[in-house]
This record gives sequence, structure tokens and C-alpha cells, in this order.
Amino acid sequence: MAEIVFILEPDARRCIIESSQADVKTAEELNKDLGQGSVVNCVRPKLEIEVKHHSQIFAAAQAEVSQNAQIYLYRIYHHSTVDGLGRRSVIQVAGCSIRCPGCYIPETYERKNGQLVSIAKIVDEIKKRSGEHDGITILGGEPFDQTSSLEVLVEKLKEQGFQLTIYTGFTLESLLARNSESVNRILAKTDLLIDGAFDRTLTKNAGEYRGSSNQRLIFYPMREAEKMNGEKQKRLILKRREKNLRRSFSNFSKFVLMKAGRRPYARKIVRSSRMELARTVTKAWLRNTVSFELE
Ligand code: SF4
Repeated sequence: MAEIVFILEPDARRCIIESSQADVKTAEELNKDLGQGSVVNCVRPKLEIEVKHHSQIFAAAQAEVSQNAQIYLYRIYHHSTVDGLGRRSVIQVAGCSIRCPGCYIPETYERKNGQLVSIAKIVDEIKKRSGEHDGITILGGEPFDQTSSLEVLVEKLKEQGFQLTIYTGFTLESLLARNSESVNRILAKTDLLIDGAFDRTLTKNAGEYRGSSNQRLIFYPMREAEKMNGEKQKRLILKRREKNLRRSFSNFSKFVLMKAGRRPYARKIVRSSRMELARTVTKAWLRNTVSFELE
């Protein structure tokens, strides 16, 4: 038997009948008893809306964000030959949380000294001058203080195929330690990262494009990061292997000492230096340079 729900609304002088299972015959009977009704709702929507996949929704939201993205900009200048390889157009952002003692550009410390500018506008300006530069440099202030805006800016510039240099007062290691996908995406698109805080005691022989000698030129920083990660893994494996070797060395030394103690010719040597004998034998055994039999 189909379940039928009657909702009575005396104020509105309305009776709503709901059923998900009633057949045509029941509907006709109700029609006869209560008069002609009208459909006010149906569980099955008249218009089928195509449900967007999560990634589509995400992409649409991202597109909207990047369309409206802004960044605190201090200024844009062109034809620089000191801010990276060749002739550069430079985007200087406003705001820096690092505050290196002796910094040459304290006027960029505060975001309010710059202006919130649409990234689309900045890219348009750069595009207009595309025949005049060899690449774009983003510096500050501190670009990585505005990571999400920086990501959009970097993405738009790379879409145009520009060579990209970024200056940062943070070291590559500290940027990676943030474990931020956004930072990693920026680094993956950066051709040259000039990293490290300015140190006024190290200005002598600082090297090209740098203010102090602690700052590094890191080409393709994400590849460098992968190398660093590989090195870390290698160090870990070596450490583990070393630990195992040490353990087997000490066990084996004990074993050799025990056996050597019973051998007449060994006893002679053992008397003068037991530990040395065990060590020599064990090291040779570990290096596979000698094979010997113990009783
Ligand atoms: S990171 Fe750059 S802008 Fe910031 S204080 Fe240091 S030198 Fe100045």
C-alpha cells in the first residue's frame, strides 16, 4: 500500500498531498475526491542540472581568484642590468617582514608605501615592453610575504614564456620548510632564485647581482630542492648503514676475540693488542678484502 501524506494548511486554505509511490489509479481517486489539483513540486527536478566535478568547480574558483588577484606593488621599472641576467623589467613589491639591518630599500618595508594593484594590469604593462627585456625580475620588499598573489603573478608571467628571476630574503631551505604547495609551485616556475637575507658585514665581493656574499644564485630552485632532498635521503641511508656496520663490527669483534683467545698463534698477538686484532680482521671482513675461517 502506497504511503500518502496529507499536509493541511488552513491559513492558506491549501492541502498538499505527497507520495513517492502512489500509482496512477490512486491519483485518479484522489482527484475525484478532492478536485483537480496542481503539481507544486516533484522530487525529480524538471530541469536536470549538470553536476560539476569537484576539479571543475575548483578550476573555476581558481580562475576567478586569478582574474581578480592583486598584489602590493611598490613600482615597476625597466632596462635594469643589475637585477639578474641581461636586461630586466623589474616588478618591485611592497612590504617586507624580514627587515635586514642596513637594508638599502627600507622604503619598501610597509605595504602602505605601495599600492594594491591588479596582477592583470601588471602583466599587461610587462607585455607591452616585451621586446625591450630579456626577462622579468620580481623583488621587494619580500615577494614571499604575499605568496598567493605571487603565485598568480608568476603563473601569468610564465604563460607568456618570460624568463623569471625572484629575489627573496628567505633561504631556499626555509621556503621549502614551509611545506606549502603554493610556494613549491612558484619555485618550480622560477628560473633563478637569489636567496638569503642581506648581511651588511658581507658586502665585499658579494658577487654579481647580490648585495652580500651569503646570498646565492640558485638556478631552477626546485631541481636544487630535489637534489637536496636526495642528499638528505642518502645521508639517512648512510647513517643507518653506518649504525648497522657499527653494530655488526662490535658483535663480530667480540666473536673474533672469543675465538682468537683459543688459538695459540693468536694468543701471542692478542696478548699485545686484542682489540686491534679484532678490528683489523673485522674491517677486512666488512670490506670483503679477505676471507678467513674461524674455528
Ligand atoms: S629582505 Fe630585502 S627588502 Fe627586506 S629587509 Fe632584507 S634587503 Fe631589505
